[in-house]
Amino acid sequence: MQGKIVKGIAGFYYVHVVESGIYECKAKGVFRKDKIKPLVGDNVEILVLNEQEKEGNITDILPRKNTLIRPAVANIDQALVVFALQQPTPHLNLLDRFIAMMEYHEIPPVLLFNKEDLDEELHREYIRSVYHATGYPMVFTSVKLDDRLSQVREVIQGKITAIAGPSGVGKSSIINLLQSNVSMEIGELSDKIKRGKHTTRHSELITINEDTYIMDTPGFSSLYTLDIEAEQLRFYFAEFREYEGMCRFNGCNHIHEPGCSVKSAVESGVIHRSRYDNYVLMFDELKGKKPY
Ligand code: GDP
Ligand code: ZN
Repeated sequence: MQGKIVKGIAGFYYVHVVESGIYECKAKGVFRKDKIKPLVGDNVEILVLNEQEKEGNITDILPRKNTLIRPAVANIDQALVVFALQQPTPHLNLLDRFIAMMEYHEIPPVLLFNKEDLDEELHREYIRSVYHATGYPMVFTSVKLDDRLSQVREVIQGKITAIAGPSGVGKSSIINLLQSNVSMEIGELSDKIKRGKHTTRHSELITINEDTYIMDTPGFSSLYTLDIEAEQLRFYFAEFREYEGMCRFNGCNHIHEPGCSVKSAVESGVIHRSRYDNYVLMFDELKGKKPY
């Protein structure tokens, strides 16, 4: 039988099998010889030992789409980067760091701006203009207004979505609302998982429907220090990429070089200045970090 690991705790893995429920499994498969550890998000083959008690063994790990080391998770399809439009006002420099980090890990970002009900100054239009050229999907929500989460449901459908963002922006509120129509089958069976609830927090997949999961990854949000060379940074700004090779100098970093096509795009308003300024800030920081 095949399933997906939704949680791992103290040598036990909780494997969600569509239409059967969650099995408590140990890792007994041949992959142990290769020192491969199962990860939350892994698709696995299990052997059921006791159907009544929902116990089994993981016998195989299917090929991974991607892997993150910290937090240790596999097969993330996208990241939902959550900020608020107000309370707290969005810190776009922090957002651009999150985005660059996702790009570095090759995890496509979806930008979610919450608390739209508080957005009397229509900050939303400014945000739209800043991120328009990136091409990232943008969703504006409010957990206080009816029906606002339908767009979120659409973008997460059929995927594993990791959630990131500073605290206080509404991540837990959004997850709770998304979970509110989780089917009975899944609701009941997740009691099995709850037993281990009050131990240290681990990464966990929250089942939204049978093929849709939210990855609640403690520590994911704080991982925004980029360990890269400054000269690599431009590749993690999506809207800069189409200008690669179009500047006067080969390998132009789009900083002080003359004849820079990215700087021209900023001047003409195609690339937003907020994004460019944050790029320059991050570039200078990375430059200042000398390797020993
Ligand atoms: P988290 O730290 O990102 O998980 O944020 P929470 O979900 O705990 O929300 C922080 C606070 O913002 C709580 O008081 C929520 O009730 C409130 N909140 C969350 N979403 C909204 C929203 O869309 N509108 C308003 N007005 N408040 C919200
Ligand atoms: Zn350039």
